Amino acid sequence: MAKPRVAIIGAGYGGLALANILAKAGYEVTVYETHSTPGGRTGRLEQDGFIFDTGPSWYLMPEIFDHYYELFGKRASEELNLTRLRPGYKVFYEHDQPIEVTGDLTEDAKLFESYEKGAGTALEKYVSASAQTYTLAVRHFLYSNFQRVGEFLAPEVLRHAARMTRLAFQPLHSHVARTVADVRLQKILEYHMVFLGTSPFQAPALYSLMSNLDFMSGVYYPMGGMYRLIESMVEIGESLGVKYVYETEVKSILVENGNAVGLEFVNGERVDADIVVSNSDLHHTESKLVPEAYRSYPETYWNRREPGPGALLVMLGVTGQLPMLRHHNLLFVDDWRGNFKAIYEDKHVPDMASLYVCNPSKTDSSVAPKDTENLFILVPMPAGVILSEEEQAVHLDRFIGQFAQTIGVPDLSDRIITKSVFGPQDFLTQYYSWQANALGGQSHILWQSAMFRTPNKSKRVKNLYYVGASTTPGIGLPMCLIGAELVYKRITGDTHSGPVEQIEVRE
Ligand SMILES: Cc1cc2nc3c(=O)[nH]c(=O)nc-3n(C[C@H](O)[C@H](O)[C@H](O)COP(=O)(O)OP(=O)(O)OC[C@H]3O[C@@H](n4cnc5c(N)ncnc54)[C@H](O)[C@@H]3O)c2cc1C
Repeated sequence: MAKPRVAIIGAGYGGLALANILAKAGYEVTVYETHSTPGGRTGRLEQDGFIFDTGPSWYLMPEIFDHYYELFGKRASEELNLTRLRPGYKVFYEHDQPIEVTGDLTEDAKLFESYEKGAGTALEKYVSASAQTYTLAVRHFLYSNFQRVGEFLAPEVLRHAARMTRLAFQPLHSHVARTVADVRLQKILEYHMVFLGTSPFQAPALYSLMSNLDFMSGVYYPMGGMYRLIESMVEIGESLGVKYVYETEVKSILVENGNAVGLEFVNGERVDADIVVSNSDLHHTESKLVPEAYRSYPETYWNRREPGPGALLVMLGVTGQLPMLRHHNLLFVDDWRGNFKAIYEDKHVPDMASLYVCNPSKTDSSVAPKDTENLFILVPMPAGVILSEEEQAVHLDRFIGQFAQTIGVPDLSDRIITKSVFGPQDFLTQYYSWQANALGGQSHILWQSAMFRTPNKSKRVKNLYYVGASTTPGIGLPMCLIGAELVYKRITGDTHSGPVEQIEVRE
């Protein structure tokens, strides 16, 4: 019997991850990508001897990657040549001494204690609860399409129901403020909310589970750069017979009598398919690729949803060393709340911003020429704000100046030997990103998380699915892996929650 043909729109991490699962399950899979290379937001730029990762740089939730690779009889640590970063990251404050988070809870508890009496024990308790929440989330919520109410009645969930409900309806900041009083420490327990496209003042305290990643499971790096993740996905796909068609932009999904029957490309060509999956931004898929009569989520739906933030990215090659930096560096402004408010509520570009700076040449000499440093600076931006080139340049100079001053390197700008900028406008034109959001989807406020997130299946087209950061379970590379399993479960009619144990090959 002929294999069912699956057409996947987009070679982002989510699309690639799903392609491998379906190919292993016995489907004939083709991935259509508008760009000339795979990866989408997980990109790579080679310039003047530097190799820049242009998107993700934090390899978190290692067990999610481990599980995905095990489905293919492989080990993530070997395929990706992972190294654990110690310290996990360094935090710079505007007016205080920096702090290094080692990733060893005992060490970090001592550090917290040195800042505030009782904060060490408070941290240990906080992280232990965070680990419990994380385990519950992985076992019952993250890998669920929420098709069976029974899942919520699992004894383990019921045992923790009161605590989980409390955490769901309380902002993270209130929860953290009850744990430690020192604002420097509070920021360390809150900054991850940017990874989830939201702010600690809006995100539910359930996301305190992120602290488990910092203090317990650790921060890793694939030697050679994060783009290794994309290469590895494609290697697996090629071995399973996945076909990749680049420089091919999908114009529309062809639908007949409520069934997706294929794709039409911008060049006018068409292909037939038995199943269509879009890894393109969900808003773009629903408002441009799906024919109007078959849209599940019209503009009125999106008007009620909150996008994650935009971003202004700059990649710099700098002469000489920057010994004060670590691989991951976070620069926190004093006006923490005001900075989040500017970006997430008032939606204007702040004068000073909390910044993230990756310096992978600290770990990996292959990403920068000798006696230089590779820097990637991320400035969160309000969603929907598009900057002209001139505005962008002015903001960038200011933020690079802020960075240079905070780390005490006044001549940083003079030491730049190569530079590349990627701004909100680029997210729009390169990824058709809804409201120019950077991370790939809606923010993770409560009403856009778990069962409230836009589902991965069309309501109107029987065999049309969605995968990637803009659908369930959400933003980030590990979430894209889980999301790929969720689509596989939808297609195969598997309604249980929890990770797939093995990929069943179709009869
Ligand atoms: C600056 C930055 C930093 C980040 N940091 C981290 C981090 O440290 N850790 C982490 O885990 N996550 C991080 N993320 C988030 C993570 O990168 C994303 O959540 C993830 O890469 C999204 O993958 P995706 O598969 O959903 O989509 P995308 O990467 O957006 O891929 C979608 C693909 O579809 C293609 N496409 C779209 N429309 C069409 C069409 N019509 N025809 C053909 N092809 C089409 C696009 O070209 C693209 O290749 C970061 C993201 C950014 C931008």
